[in-house]
Amino acid sequence: MVEIRLYNMDSNNWAGFKQGDRFRSDVSYKCGVCHTKTNDLLMDDDGPRLICPGIQEDLHSVLERNVKEDQRLDLRFEDCHAGNSVEDLDKLLRDRHYLGRCIDQVRASFGNNFNNIEGDPQRVVEYWSAKKYETQL
Ligand SMILES: [Zn+2]
Repeated sequence: MVEIRLYNMDSNNWAGFKQGDRFRSDVSYKCGVCHTKTNDLLMDDDGPRLICPGIQEDLHSVLERNVKEDQRLDLRFEDCHAGNSVEDLDKLLRDRHYLGRCIDQVRASFGNNFNNIEGDPQRVVEYWSAKKYETQL
């Protein structure tokens, strides 16, 4: 079995890669939308880039909308809870509960089917699929 080299993302030892090269990181990146994990990085103009392995699934964009809506409801809930809003708290709670169950069900359908991990990365970092990896993160 060939041993996989994992590149340390904090030390910039991946800096020799050229655009289009792929390499494996010592960090397992978890998509904030579908929770699929990968350590497969693509070198881009601006540096290493992550692509969620689950992004080709139609449900990924649906899930992304739902996660954003859930975050929006969270902010409304905090506003409401702090007394800054006269919204119906019960309705907000019901909406959040319903949306949370939908998100959990769709994430469960992704399961571990699309994980793309090689080697044994020791850290997990959550990211958003549309965002390029930035070393200062
Ligand atoms: Zn994803």
